[in-house]
Amino acid sequence: MDIIAAIATGQVASAIGIVRVSGEGCFSLCDRVFRPLGGKRFSRSEPRKMIYGDVLDRSGELLDRGLAVRFPGPHCYTGEDSVEFYCHGSPVVLRELLDTLLALGARQARPGEYTRRAFLNGQMDLTQAEAVIDLIDAETAAAAKNAMAQLDGALRRPLEQVQSSLLEIASRFYAVVDYPDEDIEDIQPEQVRQALSAAEAALSRLLATAQRGKLLKTGVRTAIIGRPNAGKSSLLNALAGYERAIVTDIPGTTRDTVEESVLCGGVLLRLIDTAGIRETEDAVEKLGVERSRRALEEADLVLAVFDSSQPFTAEDASVLSLASRQKRWILTASKADLPTAPVPFLTWREDQTPPAAAVRVSSVTGEGLKELEDAVSALFPSGDPHGAGSLLTDARQEDAVRRTRDAVRRGSEALSAGLTPDAVVTDIEDALNALGELTGRTAREDIVEQIFSRFCVGK
Ligand code: GDP
Repeated sequence: MDIIAAIATGQVASAIGIVRVSGEGCFSLCDRVFRPLGGKRFSRSEPRKMIYGDVLDRSGELLDRGLAVRFPGPHCYTGEDSVEFYCHGSPVVLRELLDTLLALGARQARPGEYTRRAFLNGQMDLTQAEAVIDLIDAETAAAAKNAMAQLDGALRRPLEQVQSSLLEIASRFYAVVDYPDEDIEDIQPEQVRQALSAAEAALSRLLATAQRGKLLKTGVRTAIIGRPNAGKSSLLNALAGYERAIVTDIPGTTRDTVEESVLCGGVLLRLIDTAGIRETEDAVEKLGVERSRRALEEADLVLAVFDSSQPFTAEDASVLSLASRQKRWILTASKADLPTAPVPFLTWREDQTPPAAAVRVSSVTGEGLKELEDAVSALFPSGDPHGAGSLLTDARQEDAVRRTRDAVRRGSEALSAGLTPDAVVTDIEDALNALGELTGRTAREDIVEQIFSRFCVGK
């Protein structure tokens, strides 16, 4: 593969900036831009050690003084020879160094190309490559932790187990059929049944984590509902920590939905402040009301707000009844710093969901916000009971796991219905193909490889 180079750090002035180079032949190329102070050639320097020296530009003049590290393949990130330069974090210096490397024959790396090479060189599978992106983009500590565990193979390992048991069946079947003279033992239906049911259970366990994984990665869609002036915008602002929505005391000012991401009790909430849900003649506001209803229907969590300093109205009652149609909601009494007006005793019919928690908050003094945070983190625990990293966070992965599981299930059913082994093997191959999409391996090659390595066919 050709030599690629790129600036690995952000394009703003900072203390340190990193330029990365990867590809066969990159050490001698880097000799021309980096001169260790000790006088020894960089390409002969000790691997994986920081070397101090002069960074040179195209005309061989001193551009910067910094550090460089040599990583000989295959035991490095990309799995091939690579170099990292640690310069002063000046965008101009970094650009100049990159231009010099390009002038000497390197090519500008495309986005994600280092990780792509790591995958192509067998350093990681696709789930791990995707975890790198998730780790970089993580918005909460819990999401970063899950991504790091996946990078460490938390998803790869259970998938490999499923893959190897399915491969075992498929390859044994083909070995018997294709090489009848080799005296390979026939596979027993009971063995196939057991392997399929274990695989199905493992895949179903993974699929069951997808909902939680999605919330962890993209955040919990949270609708704040309440009658006009209940204190919704103020609550959003108090949670977000700064003025985001327009707060006024004229009812109906929040005409559109306003979105804000906040970290609440360690959980990423995508807060949607909705226009007050009520009947209105104002066309613009009407649009907002319609959107609010939609936001409410799509929400993972609802914060139903009523003003605890004002008499409880029929409108408040209808807001709570709207909330009680949702799966998870928190009853939020606002303006806790003001004298309290009486609240009727609230009860829930059987077809309604009672609130997961009831809190009294003040957006002015901050009272009760901690209780609200606790209620949210209890509803959306960020950890995974099965161990960090085993949450499926990606729609692509979820789809491939589901197709794998469905194919395994079809195989089980075919077996129970007494179909011949070749029908079952077709399903197993479908499962391996879907699994191959997930991990980036091709099922066909794996089967062939297994036949030759395990059964010594043809020696
Ligand atoms: P929304 O229409 O539901 O979004 O309500 P707003 O957040 O715009 O608040 C309506 C009015 O109530 C504003 O005048 C706010 O200043 C006031 N308000 C909101 N929250 C509190 C609170 O916690 N304490 C007090 N004292 N006033 C509040």
